[in-house]
Amino acid sequence: MLRLYNTMTRRNDPFQPLEDGKVGLYTCGPTVYNFAHLGNLRTYLFEDYLRRVLELDGYEVTHVMNVTDVGHLVSDSDTGEDKMAVGAAREGVSAYEIADRYWQAFRDDLKRLHILEPSRWCKATDHIQEQIDLASRLEEAGFTYHIDDGIYFDTKKLVDYGKLARLDLDSLKAGARIEVVKGKRNPTDFAVWKFSPKNESRLMEWDSPWGIGFPGWHLECSAMSLRYLGEQFDIHCGGIDHVAVHHTNEIAQVEAVTGKEWVRWWMHGEFLVLPKSADGEDGERMSKSGDNFLTVNTLVQKGFDPVAYRFFCLGAHYRAPLTFTWESIEGAANALERIANRVAAIRDETGGRIAESYYSSFLEACRDDLNMPRALAVLWAVLGDKSLSGADQYTTLLEMDRVFGIGIKSMTRKEAAVDTETQKLVDARIKARADKNFAEADRIRDLLSDRGFVLEDTADGTIVRPK
Ligand code: AMP
Ligand code: ZN
Repeated sequence: MLRLYNTMTRRNDPFQPLEDGKVGLYTCGPTVYNFAHLGNLRTYLFEDYLRRVLELDGYEVTHVMNVTDVGHLVSDSDTGEDKMAVGAAREGVSAYEIADRYWQAFRDDLKRLHILEPSRWCKATDHIQEQIDLASRLEEAGFTYHIDDGIYFDTKKLVDYGKLARLDLDSLKAGARIEVVKGKRNPTDFAVWKFSPKNESRLMEWDSPWGIGFPGWHLECSAMSLRYLGEQFDIHCGGIDHVAVHHTNEIAQVEAVTGKEWVRWWMHGEFLVLPKSADGEDGERMSKSGDNFLTVNTLVQKGFDPVAYRFFCLGAHYRAPLTFTWESIEGAANALERIANRVAAIRDETGGRIAESYYSSFLEACRDDLNMPRALAVLWAVLGDKSLSGADQYTTLLEMDRVFGIGIKSMTRKEAAVDTETQKLVDARIKARADKNFAEADRIRDLLSDRGFVLEDTADGTIVRPK
């Protein structure tokens, strides 16, 4: 039986969909003003294991993901710069071009990480009418008020507002926060529609019954999931930061108009964080600015197969924070290579059967709130069991790869095919590493990458191979 942790109940509950055999799944998608960083992608990877486990269990999954292409404001409290405008100014193109450019880049990242595409993409700018309609329903039901800055949701009017995060509303104060909007009645109130600044037009704005402006960020997910998944559906996911504000407000908007419990399971992925600093300060979360902005392209530039990042993420439970280091990515790449070499050696053996006892341990781990580290331990146990034939090992791995998605079927032996000039560089790098001159070693790694080679440092020495 599949058990999934539900943020709403704070329990691992046995999963039961509303309709037999079918699952409606909504995952909050990217804001497309820049590349997704590896932290964002950790969340999409967790959602991918979830979807794959549901499909392995025979469910037909309708997976909807939004694309946030409306220019929302940088801060959660409805103030700050418009993200799409920041992107457009940076690259000298229109906000729509920025949105399209980074949506395509995001899809490319998904492909490189073997993340399945949703059954339906929905862009916020294609659903402005649905958002206006929902805001109008909220207004008719008496949940909104009008201030200079926009139309706001009055969170005091909804009895169980904040239930997902178990917010203690009385202790929440806007306090000294500088960006508090004038006229807001309660600190938790949020915009459902924001007005464009007077005498100024924005890059993206629309007419509405209340005046020209743009929808509040939380509105798009409520309106689009209502349209594509209905007034009640099974699972809604996102990163852990969405619990207190974004998902809390999505729930408020929908349940205020339907009066019904909206989503059965709320699931949240923990953050990818950076290592603690030497003086013991907590690791920062990865963000879209500064040196910590690591992307799939960064992995490729450093000579890694992006799937190594997928494999690295599989090694931690989705509800535990995960610390990113380059050493762990190297470790994951080396592990993948060991698997690939073994797979290449046994793939041609025919007549294999699934090793049932291993496979049932694997299924049990997957069904225990997606325990991927335990499921991976089964993969290593299969590879290490000399009593299994190569054919049985391969067949079992192939079946497990329906969830892992590391590409067992197309793995090839990693062999070096190196010309003399390249070999000289490899030797120079080995020397630089032995001398602990890591800057030089990294420089040579980049030169090798330009020549089309990747390097992997293993316990048995450095392996070089064509990309
Ligand atoms: P955004 O594009 O900023 O809306 O974020 C996309 C998804 O990534 C959301 O579900 C966020 O909760 C999630 N997210 C943001 N930062 C991190 C991080 N450091 N680690 C894991 N997930 C994150
Ligand atoms: Zn959302």
